[in-house]
Amino acid sequence: MKFNYICTQCSKQYDIKPDLMVCPVCSKAQKGDEPVRGILEVELDGSADGSFDVFDLLPVDKKYFPSIPVGGTPLWAPENLRKKTGFKNLYIKDDGVNPTFSFKDRASFLVSAFAKMHGIGEIALASTGNAGSSMAGVGAAAGQKITIFLPETAPEAKLVQAMQYGANVFRVKGNYDLAYDFSLEYSKIKGGMNRNTAYNPMTIEGKKTVSLELFKQLHQAPDYVFVSTGDGCILAGVFKGFADLVKLGVIKKMPVIYSVQAETSDALYRAEKTGKFENISTSTVADSICVDVPRNGYHALKLLKEHDGRVIRVSDDAILNAQHELASAAGLFTEPAGAAAYAGFISETGKIEKDAVVAVLCTGNGLKDVSSASKLMKGKSKMIASVEEAIKEI
Ligand SMILES: *Cc1c(COP(=O)(O)O)cnc(C)c1O
Repeated sequence: MKFNYICTQCSKQYDIKPDLMVCPVCSKAQKGDEPVRGILEVELDGSADGSFDVFDLLPVDKKYFPSIPVGGTPLWAPENLRKKTGFKNLYIKDDGVNPTFSFKDRASFLVSAFAKMHGIGEIALASTGNAGSSMAGVGAAAGQKITIFLPETAPEAKLVQAMQYGANVFRVKGNYDLAYDFSLEYSKIKGGMNRNTAYNPMTIEGKKTVSLELFKQLHQAPDYVFVSTGDGCILAGVFKGFADLVKLGVIKKMPVIYSVQAETSDALYRAEKTGKFENISTSTVADSICVDVPRNGYHALKLLKEHDGRVIRVSDDAILNAQHELASAAGLFTEPAGAAAYAGFISETGKIEKDAVVAVLCTGNGLKDVSSASKLMKGKSKMIASVEEAIKEI
């Protein structure tokens, strides 16, 4: 298999190099408060059939990957949810069981290997929480030095986790966008690799592995995929994986891919309607998809158009209800951003054929953000002084 970069804006091709992150031509027009311009995508050329090895479709040799078991996550066939919704081919891909408990490990894993291949021992990034703790964990396994910039509001668990892995952790006085700028500046001064999502082409490329796994687990591509969206990199990764399989002739057509946003942090949704990204301050209970300016915005919009994808929104209440339903009816405890994808599926059930193969991506573990998860559970645990009181309650 041969690999090169192609600019997602001007289609110019480049050799893959560790110091080339964005298209030198298109990035000249970059402004501060807009999505990343000149995002480079990995292009592959070669042949494969349905029995491909996931590593063979990645641009870094297997020997550089750290010894931490990323990916290969289970595909659930949730019986109660199938009954409840009437969708007998509903599946949930649980990426909360990755080593650092989120989908982000797929990107960190490839970035770490890419850095190793080029003898780079230091990686910096901005994160709302999960990317940071993920890079910290994967970097610990690889013996790389990791420096993280987090917004003021990052949940405690994600912060503590990153520190436990031994990373340098900085909280910035401001939001994710400020952390993003700080991390780029830091990398410029200090050297090493920057793992900022979308900006480093290996982030989207690593995330494509989820689609490759879905194909392997289902022995076909799903008809529909639901993915929660903040910066739009997981979304792009999902598209990329299936697009690679189409290119290689392994599958005939792309699934319909739904991008699910929080109603109160819906930059991509708004841009799809208006064609432009506005820098509006947003908030949602799903902190991992709380993004004012989606870094992969331009590229994500292009992909949605090209492959007839959909962008939908769900309310915070719907997200919290979906989180509780997944936990209580399937036994799957996912963080609000993970549950958003399921809430999106629930809102679309009237529009999808009941026998369709539907894959919902749950992207992070529920224990990542206990304060959000506790919102609906307030007052549900009673203090008792005797067993009689407990029996009376039930
Ligand atoms: C990062 C993240 C997302 C969103 O991914 P984007 O690439 O930012 O769209 C969704 N869920 C979880 C748990 C995440 O950590």
